[in-house]
Amino acid sequence: MICKVIVDISNGEVDRIFDYLVPDGLEIEKGDRVLVPFGNKKLEGFCIDKAETSDFDVSKLKPVISKLDEFTCISEEMLALMRFMKEKFYLRYIDCLRLFIPGQMRGGRVRELKRLYLELAAGLTDEQIQKLIPARALRQKELVERLKQGGEYLSVVTEEFGAATVNSLVAKGIIAKTDKPVYRKPYGDVGGSIGKVTLTTAQKNAVDAILNGEKTVSLLYGVTGSGKTEVYMNAIERVLAQGKTAIMLVPEISLTPQMLRNFRARFSSGVAMLHSGLSQGERYDEWKRLLTGEARIVVGARSAIFAPLKNVGLIIIDEEHDASYSSESNPRYITSEIAGFRAEYNGGKLVLGSATPSIESFLLAKRGEYALVSLPDRISRHGMPEIKIENMAQELIAGNNGIFSRRLEAELRKTVENGNQAILFLNRRGHSSFAMCRKCGYVAKCEDCDVTLTYHSVDNVLKCHYCGKKYRMLTQCPECGSKEIRYGKIGTQRVVEELEKLFPGVGILRMDNETTTKKSAYLDILGAFKAKEAQILVGTQMIAKGHDFPDVTLVGILDADMSLYFSDYRSAERTFQLVTQVAGRAGRSDKQGIVILQTYSPNHYVYRFAKNYDYLGFFEKENNAREVTGFPPYSTIIRILMTGEDDEEVRTCAKNMFVDVRAYELENKSEFLFLQARRSPVARIEKKYRYQILMRIKREYETLVTREVYRIINENKTRGVSVFAEINPQSLS
Ligand code: ADP
Ligand code: ZN
Ligand code: ZN
Repeated sequence: MICKVIVDISNGEVDRIFDYLVPDGLEIEKGDRVLVPFGNKKLEGFCIDKAETSDFDVSKLKPVISKLDEFTCISEEMLALMRFMKEKFYLRYIDCLRLFIPGQMRGGRVRELKRLYLELAAGLTDEQIQKLIPARALRQKELVERLKQGGEYLSVVTEEFGAATVNSLVAKGIIAKTDKPVYRKPYGDVGGSIGKVTLTTAQKNAVDAILNGEKTVSLLYGVTGSGKTEVYMNAIERVLAQGKTAIMLVPEISLTPQMLRNFRARFSSGVAMLHSGLSQGERYDEWKRLLTGEARIVVGARSAIFAPLKNVGLIIIDEEHDASYSSESNPRYITSEIAGFRAEYNGGKLVLGSATPSIESFLLAKRGEYALVSLPDRISRHGMPEIKIENMAQELIAGNNGIFSRRLEAELRKTVENGNQAILFLNRRGHSSFAMCRKCGYVAKCEDCDVTLTYHSVDNVLKCHYCGKKYRMLTQCPECGSKEIRYGKIGTQRVVEELEKLFPGVGILRMDNETTTKKSAYLDILGAFKAKEAQILVGTQMIAKGHDFPDVTLVGILDADMSLYFSDYRSAERTFQLVTQVAGRAGRSDKQGIVILQTYSPNHYVYRFAKNYDYLGFFEKENNAREVTGFPPYSTIIRILMTGEDDEEVRTCAKNMFVDVRAYELENKSEFLFLQARRSPVARIEKKYRYQILMRIKREYETLVTREVYRIINENKTRGVSVFAEINPQSLS
């Protein structure tokens, strides 16, 4: 018997299947991990297939050394998924397989916790037991009665009954001692259970449409506070009742202990968690509980889509528009595509949920490829908080040069005096900034692409990330002549200092990358704010989502424009989503909330629609713009990114690849909207030079062209160059 093995080589460029002999006496199944000889080393690998014959000389094949685990860790489904991912995202086999198992398993670092466990020995009748226990040994009798109800860990029993009692029963063969794995439980036990709510008619209909509709994928479009979570939980319950399993994905940032406890309370030990806050050991244990079927629901961030569940009946992607669902470092993949594959494979359902769906998803729903399921109303009778737009250029003219508009300052004062809380939000995206006139709101854009130029301080120029054109830095506004040009961004630190001056003695918390380098800090800050240890919370994107603070009556968005003029065709979409999310933090309980949005472009359509919570209006406008300009979802952007330490080698590789892509393009002109090769906007990262080939192709040719592109990459890549293929990347830096 031959087994086909993918070896686990770090940093290797080897992406091949190797044949090994299966020695007599070794049972190896598809999906098992194995130890194999490789050169003069022993390496771990995955058996991905078995065969009777080999294309190689069988007498020269080496035998597998051993099997690594007692169980099969990669299912048939995941092997199929591996092949799908390789084809779709241009990934190496091993990079896919590594995503499927906990990191701790590689290199034999797993430490499974085991504890001694006591059970009644099998095969003894009550009578036999009675004869073996002396009449006066009451403790022994009690222990036997106790164990009749089920086994128990030795340590627990010893504490209660004493070692002598236990030992005596073990010696007589009445109770048996075994090793049993103990699973570490993240967040410990949760007491009590959550009272079930009765679903509204709209919620009931939503669950029905999702589970019983003919479409595999549903887009659940429900405004913030419309009760989507309750819909998810109910759908999961129904799927479990059919003997199937479920995957629930949320953005990493919304995986708060509270959210996890809610799921635990509802589904008790049937739910496993997978997220970056777990220790390696906890992660392994949760994964193992999913593999064995002990847990049938997984709740987690992006990577939980690879959970080793079988018979998946339902996959939920909450906040489906969130950028964290596409992986932007190797291995690059798009979570919804993986979810789609798994749902199809299992004959299950996929739900994409959001209050602000991505343009792409909503378009697919409108076209009928997805079922559109709506929850148009909030559960609570309170409406959305009012959004007031403040023109910061006007403030400047009126002599206010500060960070806060006069209205925001007044509202802050009112909030503090009334004993309520406020959140001040600073918009952060990447490390780039744009050039803007503070007087008239003019923003420098590319003449050819109509996207905002990004300021690069290293060479002191403005660059277009889509076509590479460079522009001289502005010293004067071309529209109004003002010399008040702003490049940088306001820092959270600076905001806190200003607040301390304005409101001495008022508690202020700050949450950003700097204050949350430790994972727990993030939760500590949120906890302190919830406990009302401070009245004002200043923060970045981290505070935008999911949190529920009943006493927050004011939300201030200090520089909404930061994401509006980010150099990205999705910047309007991102800004709309962000404003809606952040605004949703105000006035969530019985107190009326207000949102103040500061901008230099008060008439921008994004703000006009956001102010009225008009997602549908925004969609129409944005969707039209994309169609006219030929950006996704009406086209597909493909970037081949090449990096390496030798500038010349990377450049040559890029050149050769470009020659081939160009040749293909010349023969298939109608498939392409744009094609270009050049240095990446950020020319060097971590000592590696970066070049890219960027193309925009018509959507319907995506599969065809990507296949061609991957072929060209394979033919032209060289040893010292890493090549990455990206489909509709989130950033082009
Ligand atoms: P979303 O996820 O759509 O923003 P949530 O699921 O957080 O909304 O629901 C908003 C609030 O409404 C929560 O406090 C939730 O407990 C409550 N809720 C949801 N469904 C019901 C229901 N059927 N009856 C009563 N309260 C509900
Ligand atoms: Zn101007
Ligand atoms: Zn351009």
